[in-house]
Amino acid sequence: MTKVFLVGSGPGDPELLTLKAQRLLQSAEVVLHDSLVDARILEMASARARLIDVGKRCGRASAAQAEICRLLVEEARNGHIVVRLKGGDPMVFGRATEEMAALRAYNIAFEVIPGVTAATAAAAALSLSLTRRRIARSLHFLTGHGAENGLPAHDWVSLAKSGGTLVVYMGGQTLPGLATHFIEAGMSPDMPAVAIENASLPAQRVFKGGLASLPGIVSAAAPQGPVLVMIGPALAEEDLLEDALAEARERL
Ligand code: SAH
Repeated sequence: MTKVFLVGSGPGDPELLTLKAQRLLQSAEVVLHDSLVDARILEMASARARLIDVGKRCGRASAAQAEICRLLVEEARNGHIVVRLKGGDPMVFGRATEEMAALRAYNIAFEVIPGVTAATAAAAALSLSLTRRRIARSLHFLTGHGAENGLPAHDWVSLAKSGGTLVVYMGGQTLPGLATHFIEAGMSPDMPAVAIENASLPAQRVFKGGLASLPGIVSAAAPQGPVLVMIGPALAEEDLLEDALAEARERL
């Protein structure tokens, strides 16, 4: 029976791929992949696999979502083992809902294989925990990209009040507006904020600042790769050190 596998390829570093993803790539007959998927990962696909780039990068031509769904269904109905390879985790800002709905509509079996999402890859790369005892008790994944090329209508005040760590996907372009909204919603302009480009890859770059200064720092660096923005008290490094030291002293 044919099956479609929605597979997370992680943030880029091929070694962050799951064993399941690697095994499926080796047995795939058709691989529909995003542009963000690293070439070294695509090379793991079996030699007989047909690779189809359906990638989406903002500003560049890409297959429309409906076309991707159509291709998925068509390839599966032709009896092929299809791997739909997505950046990071398929269930985080990956349009998996539309693809699963299309497959369900045609009674095509599918399975989802998780991947390392950009947020946790970035945290690892920065050696910064996204949650911190007593300081950051919640973690919020937001999109920085709305339907009309602008910011979505988030509840800025609630997010600012949460005290949690805010992780913004697709927020590289809209960072200035994002910072303005959060500051207007009551967040300190000095709130620790970090942007990371190409997390886990050799081309990784890290930009640190306060909420007010980060947009200028990032735009001056003109990043070309995917950028993840993170905001919140958990990202303050000196604090972290002081906290850890205080705790260590308590134990002595
Ligand atoms: N499903 C993906 C997210 C897709 S949305 C995941 O789970 O990671 C695309 C956004 O993800 C980018 O705009 C960027 O914000 C983020 N992103 C993906 N890979 C990244 C990487 N290696 N470094 C930094 N940000 C990344």
